[in-house]
Amino acid sequence: MNNIEINLRDIRAQIASAASACERSADSILLLAVSKKKPASDIRVAFACGQRDFGENYLQEALEKMQELQDLDINWHFIGAIQSNKTRSIAEAFDWVHCVDRLKIAKRLSEQRPATLPPLNICIQVNIDHEASKAGIDLSELNDLAAAIVALPGIRLRGLMAIPAPRADYSGQCRAFARLAEALTSLRQQGLDCDTLSMGMTQDMEAAISQGSTLVRIGTAIFGERL
Ligand SMILES: *Cc1c(COP(=O)(O)O)cnc(C)c1O
Repeated sequence: MNNIEINLRDIRAQIASAASACERSADSILLLAVSKKKPASDIRVAFACGQRDFGENYLQEALEKMQELQDLDINWHFIGAIQSNKTRSIAEAFDWVHCVDRLKIAKRLSEQRPATLPPLNICIQVNIDHEASKAGIDLSELNDLAAAIVALPGIRLRGLMAIPAPRADYSGQCRAFARLAEALTSLRQQGLDCDTLSMGMTQDMEAAISQGSTLVRIGTAIFGERL
């Protein structure tokens, strides 16, 4: 077996054991394989192992890989920073966008999503630790942005995404993820039909799952270190 196959098998086992530790079903957690800076050939290997969802951060790089992998039925997730002049290609080529933090971007994605495609799945990125270096809105702005986004055609608000500040301690990781989970619960209590918590990466996947993550974004543990 090659490394990607072994790594995927290990990650799936880790997801299953983290899920069972908190009495969740492993099926309730989608594994997003983050393939940024990795060649299309690596994606092809992962696809052959049953992986269907792939995350990319850089538009040009992603479009080139999509071209090479046209024969595969992949669900493509955009997880990078979005510049407003790039929204058209994103709206046309991707199935999900995880990092929406401005109404202007949501409106452009809504207008530019081709009518022939199903609605583009959207997550609002929350800057859960108020870090100057990170994208995402403050939790205090969430209700207004979510209400504006659900009114737009062509896109569907699925939930929330966050990248907490790195923490070594498990309980600290859990507390950050719990704040995002509470925010999703509150949106649902307001009647919004959201089901996705995009949280957890290679370093903090177990904590994210314990707090209700429905989608973990894993790069390094599947494809190895990025250069
Ligand atoms: C790169 C990236 C990941 C994957 O990170 P790893 O530490 O390699 O698992 C997840 N989410 C986002 C938004 C990323 O940019």
